[in-house]
Amino acid sequence: MGKLREDSLYLGDNGRCFCGRDECSGITASCTGHDISGLLIIRITADEVKAAGMISDSFKCETCGRGFSDFAKTKGL
Ligand SMILES: [Zn+2]
Repeated sequence: MGKLREDSLYLGDNGRCFCGRDECSGITASCTGHDISGLLIIRITADEVKAAGMISDSFKCETCGRGFSDFAKTKGL
């Protein structure tokens, strides 16, 4: 099992935005919680994005294209 949550977005790999799916985060990130450069991957939440004055929908997984609104749909909220 990976360390990342499928329905969360993360920043790593020099600012790349990705979700926690193995195929999006990469196996290194999924298994270690660090990116291929050895840097810690940061989990970002919709609330944090809003608190920073940014639009949560502007953050999406660069691989599969899912964002916070898609995660909310998945959970049925
Ligand atoms: Zn993804």
